[in-house]
Amino acid sequence: DPRIERISKAIRVIPDFPKPGIKFQDITTLLLDHKAFQDTIDIFVERFKDKNITVVAGVEARGFIFGPPIALALGAKFIPLRKPKKLPGEVIFEEYVLEYGSDRLEMHVGAVETGDRALVVDDLIATGGTLCAAINLLERAGAEVLECACIIELPELKGRARLAGKPLFILIEAD
Ligand code: 5GP
Repeated sequence: DPRIERISKAIRVIPDFPKPGIKFQDITTLLLDHKAFQDTIDIFVERFKDKNITVVAGVEARGFIFGPPIALALGAKFIPLRKPKKLPGEVIFEEYVLEYGSDRLEMHVGAVETGDRALVVDDLIATGGTLCAAINLLERAGAEVLECACIIELPELKGRARLAGKPLFILIEAD
């Protein structure tokens, strides 16, 4: 797909952020190139438009940038999966392990209905812990997770293996 190269070039890599040795994939520069941003959304929509997706769930924070335009184009609802203590209503949560300590994702009770067909969107998959928690949360609430979608995969970290067999659609591999 010739659009991928422009998308790839629009993502900036920042060395030693947030700490030494990490090469941070910065998608804010992709948002500055409206053509590349639009192409990104279009590629995801083309992939998922005939799959009867009823829910797009976006992971805080960058899943909140890419998830909503995909949801609108698919005619699906959007559900934000948030960091702790941000959602005002009753929540269910999933904990996941980080390099140091743990974190959790929360979702409003009632956002998912039994039988919903879900797509999980984030900007990047590293270890897969975040997407794994998102899948568990949605499925506990009664949704079927059909696929996960990210712009960037760091394949060396083998995050794909943690997705409970769910397919993962990505645009770019990075190291
Ligand atoms: P994982 O749980 O797969 O180890 O980490 C993925 C999460 O960390 C995603 O929510 C993603 O936004 C964030 N993340 C980790 N590394 C990077 C990076 O280099 N760039 C960006 N944009 N996000 C990252």
